[in-house]
Amino acid sequence: MSTHHVNDVGPRVQCIPEGDDRHRLTCPDCGYIAYENPKIVIGAVCRWDARILLCRRAIEPRRGYWTLPAGYLELNESVEDGARREAWEEARAELALGPLLAVYSITRINLVQIIFRARLLRANVSPGPESSEVHLFRWDEIPFAELAFPSVQWALEHDRRAEEGVTPVAASNPEPEVPLKSPPL
Ligand SMILES: [Zn+2]
Repeated sequence: MSTHHVNDVGPRVQCIPEGDDRHRLTCPDCGYIAYENPKIVIGAVCRWDARILLCRRAIEPRRGYWTLPAGYLELNESVEDGARREAWEEARAELALGPLLAVYSITRINLVQIIFRARLLRANVSPGPESSEVHLFRWDEIPFAELAFPSVQWALEHDRRAEEGVTPVAASNPEPEVPLKSPPL
């Protein structure tokens, strides 16, 4: 079967379905509409006393920069289970999840980030396959110039406010959005 034929079946026509208000990829044969929606990333700001767990990324994008343990939510997985799974996968960390810290909309790349507060059950953490290094940082040790994404900085600052009792409900994107401090490595 040729590639041309494969491309000739399934959703392949951009049009505005009846009752809708934006273009969707649709199948002209059966009317199926291939809706595209944002992906969900879940993660946690994990504390051991006053120290916070960060992971140095061993993979692109932003390889070599520090991030929170976070990743894509899987199908049939709760956000809480996802946060615990990512902490284990990236830092071999076991968590007691706390309350929801923040929900960030990363509209540029169609992503919603859901970030929890968490306590580490054990201080011994070690890099999983997606991390080259993991470390528990005191606030004044955090490598703010080497953070992977703006939302990592937002979450660290929102977690600090929550630790001080300032934020009773989950935070959202700061306004104006705080840009990343770090130049490319
Ligand atoms: Zn079809």
